[in-house]
Amino acid sequence: MILDRLFGGVNANVMDALERALDGVELTRADAQLLLDTEGADFQALLRAADVARQEDVGNDVSYVVCRNMNFTNVCYVGCSFCGFARHKDEDDAYDHPMEVLIEKGRDAVARGATEFCIQAGIHPNKDHTHYREILTTLKAEFPEVHIHAFSPEEIDFGHRKSGMDLAEYLQWLVAAGLGTMPGTAAEILDDEIRQVVSPRKLGRDRWIEIVKAAHSIGLRSTSTLMYGHIEETRHVAAHLDLLREIQKETGGFTEFVPLGFIHEKNTLFNHLGARPGSSMAEDLKLIAVSRLFLRPWITNIQVSWVKMGPKLGQMALTAGANDFGGTLMEESISRESGSQYGENCPPEEMRRLIREVGRPPVERSTTYRILRRFDDPAKDPPSLEPERLVELSGPARWRLQEQRSA
Ligand code: SF4
Repeated sequence: MILDRLFGGVNANVMDALERALDGVELTRADAQLLLDTEGADFQALLRAADVARQEDVGNDVSYVVCRNMNFTNVCYVGCSFCGFARHKDEDDAYDHPMEVLIEKGRDAVARGATEFCIQAGIHPNKDHTHYREILTTLKAEFPEVHIHAFSPEEIDFGHRKSGMDLAEYLQWLVAAGLGTMPGTAAEILDDEIRQVVSPRKLGRDRWIEIVKAAHSIGLRSTSTLMYGHIEETRHVAAHLDLLREIQKETGGFTEFVPLGFIHEKNTLFNHLGARPGSSMAEDLKLIAVSRLFLRPWITNIQVSWVKMGPKLGQMALTAGANDFGGTLMEESISRESGSQYGENCPPEEMRRLIREVGRPPVERSTTYRILRRFDDPAKDPPSLEPERLVELSGPARWRLQEQRSA
């Protein structure tokens, strides 16, 4: 009776798609589009179904990884229209960190408990494949225990073309130097018409697929991502999810799916090319919920990006199908420079607080989703590794490193 009152107004086609998803039947692209367009009671039913699916797929734990971003250069001439990070090499705030700076950042990260370095940067025209390898060998020599998650398919494409090697051979050469996994970024929307507007000089859809499949074929796993909330329509999102699911069926190499909302304030795509001003709250939650239902059982880790969504909407996403809160990051700059206001660092203790506030148990994981530590009892939490270095701010940017505030 009460269920009739709660779900009586749900569209019959939506209800049918949700039932099939919960019965383990693969959803079609048309189903994904239908669910991405839901509103009102249909939208509420979608979130509830995705939460049930999440519980069945991966249980109640919410994972996070203690990691540090290292964006070793912001010099880039690729010119993606959504990017607020890239600089010309002669601009005042252009940088190209030497190895000593990366080592220093690594030391700081390890002191704060990092198990992963996440390394991505601009495409510096004066570098070549040897630079990528030098970063790996330098950091591995100093920090052999730390997992290196590095180089987007765009960076792999650039280095590979300079190397003259076979693609699999090039990837193996990087793995031998210490590459552990690869970010599945530079995907944006895997549709060349959309890419003509958002990233016309970046690698195309087929090349992205080629690189990701080649990586998976040598055992180099990657994340999978999507950037939404700009000029795409729901049919593009549905096709993108379908493509990722097909790749996963073939290779099994994706560790997770991370929907990334477009940050619009400071870039050409919004200011000059007619993009929407990012995603709405409802779109953010629908992306999480639909990806949970559509990608099961092939990709079962659905990650929230707290940098894009902010901590409170991120918490809501944990009740709409997500099971992972991403990384601590320590030094986020790519989203910030496009206008994100949610800070650069989410310390482990803040991660655990946010997760517990929605009634779920936090667990620290490795890059490849091995559970490293459980935190079932808050009274037994370890002390913070960084209290003196952080200031807590009012407003959405909750934490900032002391030296960055005074810089
Ligand atoms: S998104 Fe990456 S490749 Fe594109 S302009 Fe920015 S830094 Fe360069």
